[in-house]
Amino acid sequence: MQNYRHLTIGVLALQGAVSEHCQQIEQLGATAKIVKNPSDLTALDGLVLPGGESTAIGKLMRTVGLLEAIQQFAQQGKGLFGTCAGMILLAKQIEGGEPAHLGVMDICVQRNAFGRQIDSFQTDLAVKGLEKPFPAVFIRAPYISTIENSRVEVLAEFEGNVVLAKQGKVLACSFHPELTNDARIMQYFLEMILS
Ligand code: GLN
Repeated sequence: MQNYRHLTIGVLALQGAVSEHCQQIEQLGATAKIVKNPSDLTALDGLVLPGGESTAIGKLMRTVGLLEAIQQFAQQGKGLFGTCAGMILLAKQIEGGEPAHLGVMDICVQRNAFGRQIDSFQTDLAVKGLEKPFPAVFIRAPYISTIENSRVEVLAEFEGNVVLAKQGKVLACSFHPELTNDARIMQYFLEMILS
């Protein structure tokens, strides 16, 4: 395995699943840092936007000045990895006309896209670049309904809907890779930062 010791990855810790991401980052040998304020972004190589409730996280991001700070962070070519609610935060558009948040990825997302009856489920997902399927846990998950730019690369689909994609150093994922022992998606993100 690559040596990731020199990488420092932040995890946005305003609301949602934070500690599991930190554990996966450290498991891969990189350093994890909690991010609550714009000054916490200094010296980071990448930032994880965790799952939770996108409306709540978006509101808190605006309150503490992290919305503009993360947009600038992305413009500097740093890595961003959004999972579930984090994918919604990255999107340029949200179905239904709800205002977008960071808008750093040329995608339109549908929130709670898999219906209320099947709130959460797990499936073995084929992912481009991974040898074996990934155990993907979906919880009130969004999916990417439209891709608005050819620079967006689809990495996985579930029943014809895009659930994992990247654009430059930005990675968006519908499911929760931090809720399994499998750190391959996080490793994929670290490799993206290094490439
Ligand atoms: N349904 C949530 C939202 O729309 C996302 C759910 C999650 O992150 N597990 O923000």
